[in-house]
Order: sequence, then C-alpha cells, then structure tokens
Amino acid sequence: MVSTSSTTGDSSTTGDSSTTGGSFASWQERLRASGHRLTPQRELVLAAVEHLGHATPDAVYAEVRVHSSAINLSTVYRTLELLDELGLIHHAHIEDRAPTYHSALGHEHAHLVCRRCRNVISVGREEMEAAIGDLAGSHSFTPDYGHLTVFGLCQDCVSAE
Ligand SMILES: [Zn+2]
Ligand SMILES: [Zn+2]
Ligand SMILES: [Zn+2]
Repeated sequence: MVSTSSTTGDSSTTGDSSTTGGSFASWQERLRASGHRLTPQRELVLAAVEHLGHATPDAVYAEVRVHSSAINLSTVYRTLELLDELGLIHHAHIEDRAPTYHSALGHEHAHLVCRRCRNVISVGREEMEAAIGDLAGSHSFTPDYGHLTVFGLCQDCVSAE
C-alpha cells in the first residue's frame, strides 16, 4: 500500500477543521465539486467509517460487506484514500499496518497507544493543546492534533513490568 502520509500535510491544512460540521448535502456537494460522483460504494464506505468510530480498512471492509457483496478490499482502500483527500474523513496512525479512519464529523482527538496491549486512549484537542500548545507556539508551528499518536505503555502494562 502506498503511504498517504506525504499528502496529509497539504490536505489537512487546506481543509478547515473548524467548519467540519458538514451536513449530508454539503459533503455530497464537495464530492461533486471535486469531480467525483457519489457512488453507492463510496456512500457505503463513508457510512461505515461514521458508524465504526475507529475504522481500519479491514473493519470498514467487513462492515461494508454486510450491506453489499459487490465491493472488494482494494476498492475500500482506494475509496478511503479518496474520502480522506477530500476531507470527508480523517486518519491517524494507531496500528502499524494501515491508517485508522475517523469521521470528519466526530470530535478531533489524538491517541495514546499502548505498544504492549494495544489499548488506545483518546485525548481531546483541548487537552492536547494544553500539553503541547506552548511547545508548538515557540516554533510558530500549528499541529495537526487529530493526526497525532503517542506510543508507549499504559498504566497496567507499566505496573506489570
Ligand atoms: Zn497520516
Ligand atoms: Zn480516534
Ligand atoms: Zn497496555
């Protein structure tokens, strides 16, 4: 799979995250405005991401297959990348293999991921801003908070050491 991380910087800065409260109609318009049709398959993939919350491509594929058998895994991957480019969904890197996708309608959050038990703690944007806002500010840097993952060990796993 080609990594999409090289394109995320551009797409996340052009997409205004403060106006993501897009209605059904507005994302349909955005898709059309970019020259893409809202196919039933794309609609299914988008609905699956919004339903799942944290959605790996495999999980999206499983969810979509419940509703349609006429879609394969590579189509799911391509569709996720397209929807991500268009700002209709976002992704973070929680697992090693593939990005984890999120609805653009959900609250922006970063992730603390335990390397050992794979437990994922979601941390809201305000909390992340409080933690690293000064650091970023001193470099005149604007973080993409929703793309941020901190890997380490959770409390249980540290205690077990
Ligand atoms: Zn990325
Ligand atoms: Zn998340
Ligand atoms: Zn753990």
